[in-house]
Amino acid sequence: MQTYDAAIIGGGISGLIAAIDLARANKSVIVLEKSNRLGGRGMTINKDGACFNLGGHALYRAGEAYSILQELGVKLEGGTPPADGYAIWQNRLWPLPGNPARLLSSRLLSWPGKVELGRFMLGLGKIDAAAMANISLRDWAERQIRDPMVRHIFYALCRTATYNKALDDQPVGPVIRQVQRSLKSGVLYVNGGWQTIVDQLRELAVRAGATIRSGKNVTEIMHNGAVSGLRFSDGETIQVNRVISTLSPAETYRLVGDADPTSLRRWKDGARPVMAACLDLCLKRLPVADRHFAIGLDQPVFFTNHSRVAKLSDRDTLVMHLIKYNCSGDSDPKTDERLLEQTMNLLHPDWQKEVVAKQFLPNMTVVHDYMHLGQSELMPGPAVPEIRGLYIAGDWASHGEMLADAAAASARRAAGRIINEISSEYAAASAAYRA
Ligand SMILES: Cc1cc2nc3c(=O)[nH]c(=O)nc-3n(C[C@H](O)[C@H](O)[C@H](O)COP(=O)(O)OP(=O)(O)OC[C@H]3O[C@@H](n4cnc5c(N)ncnc54)[C@H](O)[C@@H]3O)c2cc1C
Repeated sequence: MQTYDAAIIGGGISGLIAAIDLARANKSVIVLEKSNRLGGRGMTINKDGACFNLGGHALYRAGEAYSILQELGVKLEGGTPPADGYAIWQNRLWPLPGNPARLLSSRLLSWPGKVELGRFMLGLGKIDAAAMANISLRDWAERQIRDPMVRHIFYALCRTATYNKALDDQPVGPVIRQVQRSLKSGVLYVNGGWQTIVDQLRELAVRAGATIRSGKNVTEIMHNGAVSGLRFSDGETIQVNRVISTLSPAETYRLVGDADPTSLRRWKDGARPVMAACLDLCLKRLPVADRHFAIGLDQPVFFTNHSRVAKLSDRDTLVMHLIKYNCSGDSDPKTDERLLEQTMNLLHPDWQKEVVAKQFLPNMTVVHDYMHLGQSELMPGPAVPEIRGLYIAGDWASHGEMLADAAAASARRAAGRIINEISSEYAAASAAYRA
């Protein structure tokens, strides 16, 4: 039977990045993906010539994922959208006060509000996010921002940058850091969708020597305090002493027998997923040509036309995304779909006549857990301390990063830990042999 230094459960972005790092360090590695295609939440679906990511996906240019992907050799092509657009407030559209001229002429804000927003935005980039007090986003904003409309605008910016609408349990520091990143360097809408990233990662992993098997559903991580192998739904097993799980804390917990006394139980019970309802559209044209971007101020919604800067269709059509930000269990799919369609009615009357393709994804898990106040352990992973040889990666295994940045950075941490441990074991064995 073929043996491996490490096995990775999950062929999404985390799993593929970890595989490349391990294979390039000359470790034998196998990736096991239950689906018939790779990519997980990073996959892109082609519908009538339109490339639909699973909900709008933007890569933060100043984030860990962007730099790790570039360093691995992934070509990132696409465009960065300008930040001009509209605010939605009381079912009306208002130009976003995103530049000095628009700020001065804005009818959303009072004169003191304009002054406060101008000052606030100028100072935002200079805040030392790492040194901020461990208080909630709302507590901080209520202390720092007097004008309620300026607060609404700030909260909408935070939602857009983090995908998270929680105000009362998110620590303010990481949110400010994420907003700073998005304002500083912007985001990349990727030509062809995130599948192009997944396909390149796969190619790089295989070229580096990794084995990739899709259609392999892992049903058990076998262990007796130390990992001994994996079992699959088809009855097959493999022996392996190091495993990286890129699944959610709940799924990883389920695969490990007797996991209650381990950190996995705590991570699973404490997890607060970020959810979203997504309406992805391909239209023949935009009914109102200059409306590419809008953020809700009194509704947690967002609209963005990715085709403004990225090539996402092989025809002359446009791909755009609407998102409603949710927390776990606080939404109803029908109500969400109606809200997103109404948002589209407001922005682009008669849009239904232009539809070429459409997908509605009501309950997407954007991240499996986000950093929250009162979390007993802020930084899960890379190792599961109680089970030797078990490691975790994914957007919930964050050490301060968010979204795909956490997925990429945690993959790197898990692979790095395995590489170091194998080197230490090898050095110890060599020393023992010499002695
Ligand atoms: C709507 C939406 C919008 C988003 N927007 C952004 C954005 O704008 N910017 C950003 O940075 N991030 C964004 N994200 C987050 C980003 O997509 C994820 O962080 C990233 O794709 C996670 O990758 P992963 O490999 O950690 O997990 P996943 O992609 O979930 O991969 C896990 C893989 O494991 C496989 N698997 C599950 N169970 C088993 C099993 N038992 N055996 C074998 N395989 C198994 C799954 O099929 C899957 O392929 C968004 C996510 C969503 C849902």
